[in-house]
Amino acid sequence: MKKIAESLLKNLKKTENDIKKNAMLADEKYSVYPASIHKLGECVVAVGRDDAARFVMVVADYPKALPEGFDGEKSMLVDGGALLVGKLNAANAKALRKYFPWTAPVSLRERRSTVGCGDRLGLASRGHILAAAKYKVSPVLAQQSMRELSLTGRTFQNVVDDAVFMVYESDYRDGFGADGDHLKKIADIDVALSAGMPMITLDLSEVMNAAAADWSEKEIQTAFEALPDEVKKRVIAEYEGKTFIVGSSKVVFDGDCARRCAVMYTKALDFALEVYQFLKSKRGNEFDLEISIDETSAPTLPSHHLFITRELRKRHVEFSSLAPRFIGEFQKAIDYIGDLAEFDRQFKVHAEIAANYGNYKISVHSGSDKFAVYPTIGRETKGYLHLKTAGTSWLVAVTVIAQKNPQLYREMHQLALDHFGEMLKLYHITADLSKIPALPTLADAELPKLMDMPEARQLLHITYGPILKSHLRDRFFHALFVEEDAYTQAIEKHFDKHLSLLNLEKK
Ligand code: ZN
Repeated sequence: MKKIAESLLKNLKKTENDIKKNAMLADEKYSVYPASIHKLGECVVAVGRDDAARFVMVVADYPKALPEGFDGEKSMLVDGGALLVGKLNAANAKALRKYFPWTAPVSLRERRSTVGCGDRLGLASRGHILAAAKYKVSPVLAQQSMRELSLTGRTFQNVVDDAVFMVYESDYRDGFGADGDHLKKIADIDVALSAGMPMITLDLSEVMNAAAADWSEKEIQTAFEALPDEVKKRVIAEYEGKTFIVGSSKVVFDGDCARRCAVMYTKALDFALEVYQFLKSKRGNEFDLEISIDETSAPTLPSHHLFITRELRKRHVEFSSLAPRFIGEFQKAIDYIGDLAEFDRQFKVHAEIAANYGNYKISVHSGSDKFAVYPTIGRETKGYLHLKTAGTSWLVAVTVIAQKNPQLYREMHQLALDHFGEMLKLYHITADLSKIPALPTLADAELPKLMDMPEARQLLHITYGPILKSHLRDRFFHALFVEEDAYTQAIEKHFDKHLSLLNLEKK
């Protein structure tokens, strides 16, 4: 490492490009990511790796020239030069954000197409960046839900910091988002904001009255009577018996529909206003609020979508995107299950509501790889959309392990089988595990093909938590670290497929 540092020191006065060309960037087990080399005043800051981990390094002319804020071990170089080597920890992520502001997440409310990449491992962003850079799309590189945090043992700060390092290493300057995903409480939103996440996905599934979707008209009428008079008056005046023309579609509210919407959503809409005011007080206009109602069992009818949008606007809630629950099944890890023609018909109305009544992005929470419906989504939104995906990058990692480290894959697979039952409580999927061949019957070379099989994909998709918390954790991360380039290439290829099927414009 000293040899690399001394070579950087010798080239310190040159331009960044000349440093990259002339300095020695690899020596024995050490190497530096060329794109990570940046000048900072009289110093050079870079990220390197050895055979076990990545690290930050800062090289300066003399010890006092080392910039404040970086955390690590300092040592002397020839000719009085100084070197600091530190871990990829919170202090160094903070220092990078301070000295290189383009490494901090930003609000993407003005960006037309955005994609939530979801990196549960903190290792996928490099591939996400390579794919996103080819399209007119802005990536939300850091994105995690409370459930994912608890299953992976991370914090919002870890999630943001991991993205910061990869953005820095990749020299990616187009701006990226960070999403506190599926949050339900102001206390959790506060933690995400404090970690520097500008995007908040507000999950209204618990505060809304989802069960009322199935209530009888009589039950709805009774519950409606209990609402405040001014709400009742307004809902009846504005919605009952009304038809709204939305683009080429008509959305009709009969009496029951208007009342049902009021019963289902009034409390949730008031809570959305409270959250909006909280966000505004913390971040001014520098945030993206996503409203999510996708985690319910009943699909969001177009009339309900329109009601929610109009009512949010009445409350002056500015939001960037809204995630309805679409018709059909969006089970984790596999393609769309349902009537594609009906999906197309309903999605068109959802997209028209967003375009005509609010100017926000339709957000599609894909649950990984709903390629069958992507062309419709791209066409009907004209690219004005947010796509959110999370588990798919984990599955790409599992595939890389199956290719490169069959023994480890076998152990992960067995652990997944052992924990499948308990994870079914958290994730709704219907995989028939008896279709998965017994591992001993498969040769090593056949293992990667399991990740093309819906049942095995679902098995590994929902068991990431138990795997990452098991004795396999360190071996898994090390194996992926060793295969860093293979993982990056596989992620890039996979996201390229996502973005091209959405028909997003290339740069
Ligand atoms: Zn969702």
